[in-house]
Amino acid sequence: MITGDLKSKIDKLWEEFWVGGITNPLTVIEQITYLMYSRMLDTMESKDEQKKALAGVDFKPRFKSHQQDCRFSQYCNLSADEMMEVVRDRQTPTTKCSVCTGADGSTKDSYQSKAQAKRRSEIINEEHGIRLYVYQCDHGNGWHLTKSAG
Ligand SMILES: [Zn+2]
Repeated sequence: MITGDLKSKIDKLWEEFWVGGITNPLTVIEQITYLMYSRMLDTMESKDEQKKALAGVDFKPRFKSHQQDCRFSQYCNLSADEMMEVVRDRQTPTTKCSVCTGADGSTKDSYQSKAQAKRRSEIINEEHGIRLYVYQCDHGNGWHLTKSAG
């Protein structure tokens, strides 16, 4: 059974989620799991970096140079708004356009703002070398990305 300091930390974290509007216990556990995984990845990367610096042991980096802001140690000390910007702009949005489809027939991702769509296109370009253009949805569902410039 968990007691004392650890229990009070877990209760405090649970309360933070509740105050933030996340009340489903499964969602809270899912989010905590993401944070633990993110921290674990960063810890493993840091250990490999130390081994390389001290003993010259080479390793395959988990984070590329332009992905350093995604490391737990980098974003955990940001303000809530700054952290939201890093996390939200890095991940594929969860909203889909109800009308527009891509060339492969799948529904288009919708971004709330032109700036978010532009940031996502920059990340895709950095990570995959694919140039995407931003355009406003004709049906009022935010902003989309496309391969064609026209
Ligand atoms: Zn659309």
